[in-house]
Amino acid sequence: MGYKRMRILSVVISLVAVLAGCGDNQPVPAAVLTPQAVQSASPQVTATQATAAQAMAAPTEVPAAATAAPTPAPTAAPTPVATPETKPTPTKAAAPTALPSVPKGKELVMIDPGHQRVGNNGPEQVGPDTRETKAKVSSGTVGVRTKKPEYVLNLEVSLLLKDELTRRGINVAMTRETHDVDISNKQRADMANEAGAALVVRIHADGDASASTKGFSVLYPSAAQPAVKPIAAESKQAAGFLLAGMQQATGSKGRGLSARDDLSGFNWSKVPVALVEIGFMTNPEEDELMSEAAYQQKLAIGIADGIEQFVNGK
Ligand SMILES: [Zn+2]
Repeated sequence: MGYKRMRILSVVISLVAVLAGCGDNQPVPAAVLTPQAVQSASPQVTATQATAAQAMAAPTEVPAAATAAPTPAPTAAPTPVATPETKPTPTKAAAPTALPSVPKGKELVMIDPGHQRVGNNGPEQVGPDTRETKAKVSSGTVGVRTKKPEYVLNLEVSLLLKDELTRRGINVAMTRETHDVDISNKQRADMANEAGAALVVRIHADGDASASTKGFSVLYPSAAQPAVKPIAAESKQAAGFLLAGMQQATGSKGRGLSARDDLSGFNWSKVPVALVEIGFMTNPEEDELMSEAAYQQKLAIGIADGIEQFVNGK
């Protein structure tokens, strides 16, 4: 009798051990749903991926996952790490990890149309890490053929971008919507810091001594400045998305990305920031092109695509 009881007991223990082993695999679907996996996908595809991932290891969760969060934003979801625990992780505890709670498109994007009608030559510290100063803000360059001031072109494109983002359900704030302001580059950074912007996109146009220089580029803060270290990686990622968006929208390769440690608007920023140079106003053809409505719309769409990709991936 004693042996029989022990045998039954050992069978029960074995069963428990096997079940516990299965339980260790439960966190896997959560790990599949990293922010990176969600970020590159449209809401519809994300839901499909989520459903597929959930279905693989936890079929009972699928209906709950599908109804609870059809458009997940991955902000709140930490990447789960496999634990050495032998205890099975309860299925119900694993589910919220895979389902981010912040809806997409609710984060604020700050657009900063570069310059203003009247520059301000008052000195301003270039950043927290240096005593070097620069003019607070200038009026920018001028179109060699259109004679249009840069601050006018910047606002034209910025307003189109604002409309495009708003149409996509993304919250937008502007540092300026008229030319008659006096806001230094540091103050523009402070505005975004105080607003807790998810991203700042500064819109500028370039100038060069050579009339043949042309093409758009995207600048991001150099990690060489200690103050921007916390935002350097995300800013560079955003810059990459912006460049790719513009390349796709315009069919042009542009000049690429550039790290900068000399811009006050970067160095004072506590939130991810990138600066789009939409082209050269000192190149006659590009100067004219940048004032064409159709091209401005292409730029706005390309930049909005990059912003959307960044914000949805956060
Ligand atoms: Zn500029």
